[in-house]
Amino acid sequence: MPKPPQSHRFDTLVIHSGQEPLSWEGATLPPIFQTASHLHPTAESLSRTFAGETTDHIYQRLTNPTNRTLENKLALLEGGRGAVVMSSGMAAVTNACLALLRAGDEFISGNSLFMSTYLLFTKVFAKYGLKARLVEPTDLKAVAGAINNRTRFIYLETIGNPKLDIPDLAAAAELAHAHNLPLVVDNTLATPFLCRPLEWGADVVLHSTTKYLNGHGSAVGGVVIDGGTFPWPADRFPDFKPFIDRKGPLAFLDKVWREQHINFGTTAAPFHSFLTMIGLDTLALRMERSLANASLLARFLKERPEVAWVNYPGFDNHQSHPAALRYFEGKGYGGLITFGLKDQAACFAFISRLRLIYHLANLGDCKTLVIHPWSSQYVSFDDDTRRELGIFPEMIRLSAGIEAAEDICADLDQALNGLG
Ligand SMILES: *Cc1c(COP(=O)(O)O)cnc(C)c1O
Repeated sequence: MPKPPQSHRFDTLVIHSGQEPLSWEGATLPPIFQTASHLHPTAESLSRTFAGETTDHIYQRLTNPTNRTLENKLALLEGGRGAVVMSSGMAAVTNACLALLRAGDEFISGNSLFMSTYLLFTKVFAKYGLKARLVEPTDLKAVAGAINNRTRFIYLETIGNPKLDIPDLAAAAELAHAHNLPLVVDNTLATPFLCRPLEWGADVVLHSTTKYLNGHGSAVGGVVIDGGTFPWPADRFPDFKPFIDRKGPLAFLDKVWREQHINFGTTAAPFHSFLTMIGLDTLALRMERSLANASLLARFLKERPEVAWVNYPGFDNHQSHPAALRYFEGKGYGGLITFGLKDQAACFAFISRLRLIYHLANLGDCKTLVIHPWSSQYVSFDDDTRRELGIFPEMIRLSAGIEAAEDICADLDQALNGLG
């Protein structure tokens, strides 16, 4: 891949990295290789490719040229050495974790997790003898206290959802490395525009590309990115040897791909990768506007008599404000806000009055979105768990889009007016 000069800024790289128009018949958009399988002219060629001696393609479940273009772009944007794109963000979470775990192993995770990740870690993995120890992600003493000789990794989300808590990534990486453990970070909510966890010491980054990276809600997708720096010491990771022998610094990514991705069949559709790349072109612009809108909307909501409280890391008194300043370097505080109305009935009335803002289960879209998490994604959770996860009957979550802030505020205004 012709790499653009390193001197190019993120906003330029997001558009130009991985572009190869001259090998695409001059096309400025990546071709969609809509094929299940690839022809090999000789038996020797197919044999060499199966043996891993070429980077040619064989079969879509293994690799695909359109997917590879997206992989190259995302690895570069996160400052990683390689990436594998997958069918969904949950495929990325599952594959990254399972590549690190064997029956009887444990890992430590922040407890402020995306809903399906929470269920995977606490309910599904437990059935296979894999134990997640959940702790407050912002309490590194708790993280340290949970480490034992069965621990295989530490897992954090850059911005917890819906708590909007931001962990101290550099300190977590230092703690992990002091115990020969890798730090795995779900960077979906920050995106590499706001934060590049590998630069703060993380070893693996993953995303649901469905959210900000795509930005238009047009395709579900995920990616695992390998920083290529973790040494995988044999005492903690005895099963890494063949992957280290084969791929050296990309041992982890090879394991994710060869053991999990190929055999679980978590293939990304090339058309989805194409849609994600179209979205990615405007990531920097969209993030700028979403982050600016989130800041304006948080302040607008705070002034409203109908709104009891607003949770937004951009406020000086927010417990994660210092971490946001350090890790997001003044570019913003994320595009999510949660706020409290009088009660659940007020939330339902508010949602039914909205005219511009969309009510649906997604985030990171160019459209402003709201949801009432208590009665939707988390409806089957018991009350105590919901409260522990920062979800309350009177709480709305808002994902700031890129519309004109005045129009979003006007819609919020008419929906809030006169609410109890
Ligand atoms: C949405 C999301 C996921 C899961 O991604 P899907 O693409 O929906 O499978 C994982 N982590 C975070 C932080 C998310 O927001």
